[in-house]
Amino acid sequence: MVFYLSAQEQKYLVNRILPTAREVGISPELRGWNWWKEPLKPYQPAQISMFSVCGKFCSTGRDVYLTYVERKPPKRTYEIMLGAITHNLLEYVFEEVRRGKFELSFEDWWRNELARRGQVEGAQQMEGCLRPLWDYLLTQTKSAYLEAKSSHPFATDSQLLAVAVPFLVEHKLDGSLLGLSGTLSVDCYDYLRHIIFDVKVGGERRDFYRLYPTGYALVFESMYEVPVDVGCSIVLNFRDGKVQISRDLFFIGDDLRSWWIEERDRKQEMVAQKKDPGRAQNCPPSCMFLEVCS
Ligand code: SF4
Repeated sequence: MVFYLSAQEQKYLVNRILPTAREVGISPELRGWNWWKEPLKPYQPAQISMFSVCGKFCSTGRDVYLTYVERKPPKRTYEIMLGAITHNLLEYVFEEVRRGKFELSFEDWWRNELARRGQVEGAQQMEGCLRPLWDYLLTQTKSAYLEAKSSHPFATDSQLLAVAVPFLVEHKLDGSLLGLSGTLSVDCYDYLRHIIFDVKVGGERRDFYRLYPTGYALVFESMYEVPVDVGCSIVLNFRDGKVQISRDLFFIGDDLRSWWIEERDRKQEMVAQKKDPGRAQNCPPSCMFLEVCS
């Protein structure tokens, strides 16, 4: 259900993740607000993207070297474009819905999206994937709104929407205190449950997907000085005109935070020292730098 938790996930959150977060806790030095001292303090000046820190699609990290040292432009493959356009769709729908607009035209949005981007490879196939997601999001958000309305008959529309759709989608963050770019966007932050969501489009789940919500939680803590203990990694797939959603809800504990810092330090050092880590053994066919490395 994209950003809405199922009944089982809600139980898992309340009975497992939150009690663990309270009992086990987080080491103080691994809270984002301690960005100015070890181990969070960045030692290199290079400001890199969250994707560069957390991505392990290239096992050696050569994609980061090519982006920041050799300044090679990435190729926009079909998979990359589908991911980018899906994120735009989520941003657009949630922004409109949070203004109380539920009657939205997919055709108008899609026409504008294509006009803005010029030629999009596989546009027809993409349209077939995105339309069911569009319908699904509108149905789900409207039902949440109507449910809130029936429970709070004296609330105003904006009060109802704040409760029914508590999601900041593509919320802007400044990662510079942690050595990241100053123009980050987190896919979604649920401000009622304090959960950071990251969305990946296509393929199987990978273990490093947990690094993305972890990194955004650290940035959030560094900026707002409030604890963020829960992350959720979402993988969206489009198959046979259906949207398949897999979610991984987890506690952002010390191990994940330490792993994220290790990755950030390794990638920042590679960029600062202009060190080419060499080619990976198995390059994924969808890699944006396949032509550069071959
Ligand atoms: S083509 Fe291979 S070596 Fe080059 S960036 Fe992609 S995965 Fe890494």
